[in-house]
Amino acid sequence: MKRISILGSTGSIGTQTLDVVEHHPEQFIVEGLAGGSNLQLLIEQVQKFKPRKVSISTQSLAEQLAPYVPEGTKVYYGDEGLVEIAAGTDADYIVTALVGSQGLHSTLAAIEAGKHIALANKETLVSAGHLVTAAAKRRNVMLLPVDSEHSAIFQCLNGEGTGDVRKITLTASGGSFRDRTREQLHGVTVEQALQHPNWSMGAKITIDSATMVNKGLEVIEAHWLFGLDYSRIEVIIHPESIIHSFVEFNDHSIIAQLGNPDMRVPIQYALTYPHRLSNPSRPLNLAEIGKLHFREMDFDRFPCLRMAYDSGKAGGTATTVFNAANEVAVDRFLKGEIAFLQIEDIIARTLDKHETAADPDLEQITAADAWARQTARNI
Ligand code: NDP
Ligand code: MG
Repeated sequence: MKRISILGSTGSIGTQTLDVVEHHPEQFIVEGLAGGSNLQLLIEQVQKFKPRKVSISTQSLAEQLAPYVPEGTKVYYGDEGLVEIAAGTDADYIVTALVGSQGLHSTLAAIEAGKHIALANKETLVSAGHLVTAAAKRRNVMLLPVDSEHSAIFQCLNGEGTGDVRKITLTASGGSFRDRTREQLHGVTVEQALQHPNWSMGAKITIDSATMVNKGLEVIEAHWLFGLDYSRIEVIIHPESIIHSFVEFNDHSIIAQLGNPDMRVPIQYALTYPHRLSNPSRPLNLAEIGKLHFREMDFDRFPCLRMAYDSGKAGGTATTVFNAANEVAVDRFLKGEIAFLQIEDIIARTLDKHETAADPDLEQITAADAWARQTARNI
């Protein structure tokens, strides 16, 4: 039996993780759950999975939650509550499914406490990849990818050394506006941007898919997870999201991982690695699909991806700023304050104003993140 805790249990990844747990009740014990503000769903989850500890974002929500938790479940709240769920339970595995760099402190706390990380919250690796990977190495904990592309690469590399890898290629669906030109992006609405063709996900990552920022975050995530130089990480458009990513080896042999788009597969693999169990997803029928399509990535059409590569190559606080500026820009777009194309504009202008610090410590990362948020808000 594996003991797990989930940071962000009420979100898209969090609920799908609990779906996997329900499918294998003999495999998992839920030790801790942390949600943000969805009180009703968190109450249902706590009553069903009876964790030892639960946390919610504010004190007032914690007071509303307390009367509904089973006997033996302790209630926490706020940033301290997140750290309690991350580091203060008997869990061996922590699923990091918060959205944004706000997940950094709790992820680091989990690593320091020696917990293996099933990592969905990619922004933590983009914001402070060198700190997270160094801490994981020092504490001898695994960073197990949940993101479908990285799970694919991880599966393709099973038993292979990265020294034999020529390059890896991350596939991108292209997001909700993949068939529009740049001119056709003027005046697009929030509702249109939230219609992802292949995946049902949280709002922030759905917008990130439409801007291609998501693939940019994933390129940086891959750099840290697999220790590969940016010149060996490529992106290709693959509208069907059936090939989740692939590895090309030095002998030009390519190994890819395929499946229907369903996050419960990579979530479960992270939690059962190196073993494979049955999964509630639908099996893939290639004859039914018939054809798969691929297009070269167009960096002029998707300038955010170029900015992500440039930030990654610059290193230091550049990726922290790229990520934080994007978080603010997406939030402003979702609130109707700015147009879709202003997201990339805000990221570019924030990066322009930033002086990158090399090899930053946590304090410098936190300061760069706060500076970028303020700057992106003022543009
Ligand atoms: P969602 O927006 O669906 O969920 C985010 C979760 O974080 C919710 O449980 C939310 O709580 C919680 N949360 C937000 N703010 C706080 C806070 N201050 N304190 C405590 N909890 C908080 O996001 P996703 O599940 O889509 O994404 C999560 C991460 O996984 C992201 O980093 C994303 O990039 C990554 N990812 C997601 C994929 C997907 O298919 N969804 C695929 C690959 C990666 P509440 O809802 O209760 O407010
Ligand atoms: Mg992904």
